[in-house]
Amino acid sequence: MYSQSKLLFERAQQLIPGGVNSPVRAFKSVGGTPVFMKHAKGAYLYDVDDNRYIDYINSWGPMILGHAYEPVVKAIQEYATYSTSFGAPTELEIKVAELIISMVPNIDQVRMVNSGTEACMSALRLARGYTGRNKFIKFDGNYHGHADAFLVSAGSGVATLQIQSVPGVTQTVAQDTLTAPYNNLPAVEQLIAAHPEEIAAIIVEPVAGNMGCILPQPGFLEGLRQLCDTHGILLIFDEVMTGFRLARGGAQELFGIKADLVTFGKIIGGGMPVGAFAGPAAIMQHIAPAGKIYQAGTLSGNPIAMIAGYTMLQTLQENPVIYKQLEEKKDYLVTGLREALGGAGVVHQINSLGSMLSVHFAEYPIIDFSAASSANNELFRRFFHAMLERGVYLPPSAFESWFLSNALTQEDLDATIKATKAAMQAITNS
Ligand code: PMP
Repeated sequence: MYSQSKLLFERAQQLIPGGVNSPVRAFKSVGGTPVFMKHAKGAYLYDVDDNRYIDYINSWGPMILGHAYEPVVKAIQEYATYSTSFGAPTELEIKVAELIISMVPNIDQVRMVNSGTEACMSALRLARGYTGRNKFIKFDGNYHGHADAFLVSAGSGVATLQIQSVPGVTQTVAQDTLTAPYNNLPAVEQLIAAHPEEIAAIIVEPVAGNMGCILPQPGFLEGLRQLCDTHGILLIFDEVMTGFRLARGGAQELFGIKADLVTFGKIIGGGMPVGAFAGPAAIMQHIAPAGKIYQAGTLSGNPIAMIAGYTMLQTLQENPVIYKQLEEKKDYLVTGLREALGGAGVVHQINSLGSMLSVHFAEYPIIDFSAASSANNELFRRFFHAMLERGVYLPPSAFESWFLSNALTQEDLDATIKATKAAMQAITNS
């Protein structure tokens, strides 16, 4: 079933560390051979052995409208003929900025970068430069990319690979990263009290998607806002996952909470390598060349990436019904998954919001990293493979969120629920 993938993985491991260009792709914690993809269309992925999968990763978030979405593909083809890069300003960058600012609350200016990592790294530098303070608070199991400062108690691949402390990240850097459990305001208050006037920023995934999908408990984000206001700290919403996914204006719109800086990635580039950070002009004006806080990129604002993102964002802007449709699909799927897992007598928790969800095999609510880590991840491993064999492509780790695309049909959702029932039957019988 996976013979070509196996051959490719053997070759890849000789040439690329671990055979992959980003760790979570390697199926390290679930075992087995990562599936090498050939092409994709709409809700389906096709691998090199010609297996078809219903996709619940969607490139880890960007493909909210499904793969090879025709207007995006056409726009890329057209723009590629003009030049693949200018390294000079274009009108398209203004249009992208206008569109983003019209969709996202509380921002006047946006700077485009090439990844979510760059977005978060730059937003943190800006927060530090703006406040003149060095330390910041992040939450256990939240992931903000692989810049040194964020690789402390990080989620996603760092959690999947169970790396407690990343070699190469110096103590000097790590000591300015303060960590608290997600959803735990008293812990944040204690950190602030212990480091008066030293904390530049609190960075948070407003809905965490890098330890499974974990929702903010009522009052958590509001509490962070208040603490930041009281202590002169900037609140950074990392909306790399949630931006343009939970609502057109992301989590700020959904929860009605204002962040001081917001970071984006994934959907903002329509599947091309793009990130961005944004905020009020009073803060963003400190970025070079308007201000002294330096940030740059040879390929930033790249025309192909910009037109891909612009086309996708425009579709979302003009068709808010997409968010309603996505949520209906998610609700239908969650109901079906609960029936299938419950029917098989499997203890489980499903967290979900908008078009994000995750399944943890545990009898207690999953509200933070420690709960997610204590779940039955061996059962998740077996579930993952049983679903893969049945043509459903789930994230290969319980420390990742599932992402739905609007290309999913009723038949796809029914097929996924049916596969879940069969998978659980096979697991409980084995
Ligand atoms: N922040 C969050 C919330 C993310 O989920 C990710 C990536 N999954 C990043 C930052 C880093 O983005 P990138 O992989 O594009 O560098």
